[in-house]
Amino acid sequence: MARAQSETASNYDIIIVGGGMVGISLSLLLAQQHDWKILLVEAQEIGNPVDGAYSPSFDARSTALSWSSREIYQSMGLWSQLEPHVSSIAQIHVSDRGHMGLTRIDAQEAGVDALGYVVENQRLGAALLAQLQQTQIELRGSTTVTGVKTLASGMQLSFADGQTAHAGLLVIADGACSSTAEKLGIHSDSSAYNQSGIIANISLAQPHNAVAYERFTEHGPLALLPLTNFQGRPRSALVWTQPQDQAEALMAADNEIFLARLQEQFGYRLGRFEAVGERVSYPLALTRSSEQVRRHLVVMGNAAHSLHPVAGQGFNLSLRDAATLAKVLAESPGAIGDLVTLQHYYQKQSADQRNTVLFSDSLPKVFGLSSSLAAAGRNSGLLAMDLIPTLRSRFARFGMGLATSEASNG
Ligand SMILES: Cc1cc2nc3c(=O)[nH]c(=O)nc-3n(C[C@H](O)[C@H](O)[C@H](O)COP(=O)(O)OP(=O)(O)OC[C@H]3O[C@@H](n4cnc5c(N)ncnc54)[C@H](O)[C@@H]3O)c2cc1C
Repeated sequence: MARAQSETASNYDIIIVGGGMVGISLSLLLAQQHDWKILLVEAQEIGNPVDGAYSPSFDARSTALSWSSREIYQSMGLWSQLEPHVSSIAQIHVSDRGHMGLTRIDAQEAGVDALGYVVENQRLGAALLAQLQQTQIELRGSTTVTGVKTLASGMQLSFADGQTAHAGLLVIADGACSSTAEKLGIHSDSSAYNQSGIIANISLAQPHNAVAYERFTEHGPLALLPLTNFQGRPRSALVWTQPQDQAEALMAADNEIFLARLQEQFGYRLGRFEAVGERVSYPLALTRSSEQVRRHLVVMGNAAHSLHPVAGQGFNLSLRDAATLAKVLAESPGAIGDLVTLQHYYQKQSADQRNTVLFSDSLPKVFGLSSSLAAAGRNSGLLAMDLIPTLRSRFARFGMGLATSEASNG
C-alpha cells in the first residue's frame, strides 16, 4: 500500500518543511552544491517579507550575524545583497548595572574587520527569497503537512490539499516544538527560562559608532545592537530580557514610559533614547528535539535547538549546521538519505551544538543571579575578562561563531 502511494507521489531528492530563515538558507546551500530536485514547503502564504512577515523568521526582529555566517553568505553570493542593510559591530561593550565590572571587546584587537553584523530579519528574508527565485528550487506556500510516512525508499508527505510528495531526504525546519517531527515520534524537550525577550528598534539622539551593548541588570540581560540609519536617524535594535510579569507590564506601557524605563536601566552611554518602534515579546525557553537524524531524515534550525537570544547564537549555529549538511551530502558517494552520511553530519556538528547551547544557556543563568556573592563572582569575571586578553578573545571568538569544537578543550 505504502509503495503504491509512493509511485503516485511527486518525487524529489530533498523536501524541506519550513520556509523560515533556516529552511530557505539550507535550500540555497544545497542548490549551490548539486542539481538536486528540491521542494521547500511553507505553511504560510509567501510574500515579500519587507511588505509584512509571512514567517516568524521575518518579523520585526534583527539578527546579529557572526563572522562565520558572513562567510557562508559570501560563499553563496548573497552578502553583496545584504551589505547595504547591515551594520557592522566594531566593539562589544559588556557591563553590569549597579556594579563595577565592565569589559570591551574590540574587532581590531581580535584581528578582524568586525565582531558581527546586524541585519533586520525582513531585509534578510527579502534577500533570501530574491535569491531563491533565481534557482530551480520549488517553493510551495500555504501548504500544510498532514502526514509523514517512513518508507524503505525515503519519506512520503501528505498535504492538506490531498497531494503527496516523496523524497530521499526530508529536512524538518518548521520551528521550535516542530509538529512535523512530532508526527514521527520525535519529541521536543523544552525548559522555560520564565523570562520574555522584548524586541524593538530604538531611535537615538547620537550615533552608535558601531558599538553593541550587552548590559546585565538584576532582572535580566539587555542588548542594544547597532542598526543602519533609518531616514537619516541612528537606531539600535533592543533585545530586553525580563521576568514574564515585568515584560507584560513593559509591553502594556505607553512609549514614553517604556523609553523612560529603558533609559533608567541602560543609562546614557548611547545618549537619549528618542523613539521606540513596534514592540514584540517572545517567551524564552531552551528547546531541543529528542533526535536530529534518522535514515532519510534531518531535523534542523529551531526544530532541532532553540536557544536563549542573549548571546545571539541560535541562527548562526543553524546556518553552520546547514552549511555542514550541504557539504557532507555533496561529498557523500551514497544515496541521499543514507544513515551513515547523516550520522557523519551530526557528528561533525555535535561539538559546536553542545558548546553553543552551553554558552547561550549559562549566560542568562550566571548573570540572572542577584545575590551579592554571584554579583561579586560575575563582576570579577568581567574584570578578569578585561584584564586577560585570552579570556576576552575567547568571548569574542564565540560571538563571531569561530569557537566551536575547540571550546570544549579548555
Ligand atoms: C528575540 C530573539 C532574538 C534573536 N536574535 C538572534 C541573533 O541576534 N542571532 C542569532 O543567530 N539568532 C537569533 N535568534 C534566533 C533566531 O531567530 C532563530 O534561530 C531563527 O528564527 C530560527 O529559524 P527557523 O527557520 O529554524 O525557525 P522559524 O523562524 O520558526 O521558521 C519556521 C518556519 O516554518 C513554518 N512552518 C511551521 N510549521 C510548518 C508546517 N507544519 N509546515 C510547513 N511550514 C511550517 C513557519 O511558518 C516558519 O516560516 C533570536 C531569537 C529571538 C527570539
